Amino acid sequence: MRSPSFIVPALLLLCACGNETRLPQIELAGQTMGTTFNIVLVAPREDLQKDALQSDIVATLEHVETLASTWRENSELSVFNAAASTDWQAVSDEFCTVLEQAQRVSMTTGGAFDITVGPLVNLWGFGPNGDATAPPEDVEIAAARTRVGYEKLETRCETPAARKLVPDLYVDLSGWAKGYAVDKVAALLDAYGLGRYLVEIGGEVKVRGQNAADKKWAIAIEAPATDRRDVQSVVRVTDTGVATSGDYRNYFVYQGSNYSHTIDPRTGRPVDHDLAAVTVVDASAAYADAMATALLVLGPEDGPTLAEQLGVAGYFLIRNATGIRELKTSNFQMLSES
Ligand code: ADP
Ligand code: MG
Repeated sequence: MRSPSFIVPALLLLCACGNETRLPQIELAGQTMGTTFNIVLVAPREDLQKDALQSDIVATLEHVETLASTWRENSELSVFNAAASTDWQAVSDEFCTVLEQAQRVSMTTGGAFDITVGPLVNLWGFGPNGDATAPPEDVEIAAARTRVGYEKLETRCETPAARKLVPDLYVDLSGWAKGYAVDKVAALLDAYGLGRYLVEIGGEVKVRGQNAADKKWAIAIEAPATDRRDVQSVVRVTDTGVATSGDYRNYFVYQGSNYSHTIDPRTGRPVDHDLAAVTVVDASAAYADAMATALLVLGPEDGPTLAEQLGVAGYFLIRNATGIRELKTSNFQMLSES
């Protein structure tokens, strides 16, 4: 979760503004996790309790911050991080499940997604107190790396507890939390009986049903440029989550090189290759969020290969001499055709 000034949603939201008949919709927007959220409800029932819904949404977002924010000293995550112990620590059921699911993504991606990457994120200046202006020294990177590695974190969720295998392990859930919050808000909307909506938090999205023009939702995927906001392509989806990771929004420049906030845990350094952005479509926005980060870390060859192996619907934007090359996994290709 970044400070507000850093965040720009990676996805632009398209409205299907044509001459079609459009159903009425309600839009809700606000700030959360150092970024913005947008919610669109299509043709909600007349008797919808809007005020109750609004306060339930705020409470849901607040709850995720209380659980997973590295920016809040009293979040469950920060309390876990502050305990310099290798004993089992009792944690909430929900926190345990989040850790376990994030760890599963680490395992399937060979550690490309790794929530223990926090010390490196902080060292590179992208953490809660970071200034992100110049690369750290090699010795500092080497020192931070001794505290990083998903296999240094264990969970035991039957009686919810987690354990650090090194006392100064530091967990960063920023690559999971926005997608997770999207899933939580979507579940809330489901519980309200709302069947047609879009939820977007900091560029991570979930949609249900059809949009106001009785079509699938059109999600615009941004062209990977730092200086302008063009649409690269549009994916039409329903009943799913969509997340994008890119190296072109949250970064600093030092001596002519860009340093991204996505860290390759295998090198301890920001990603540095021609893969500019990855979009993942999955029923779970949290999984899509994490998988997009993992595939971005893996780069232009290994990313698409793993995505294809895992059956992930992935869309890759790769820089080349003439511009941007697009690559779609077969499951993403099927989405575009359906
Ligand atoms: P993006 O939309 O670019 O993926 P996110 O905010 O969703 O941005 O995720 C990036 C954040 O995740 C970083 O700011 C950092 O806190 C954390 N992070 C960086 N590298 C990794 C990684 N390899 N695995 C997991 N989390 C990471
Ligand atoms: Mg993300």
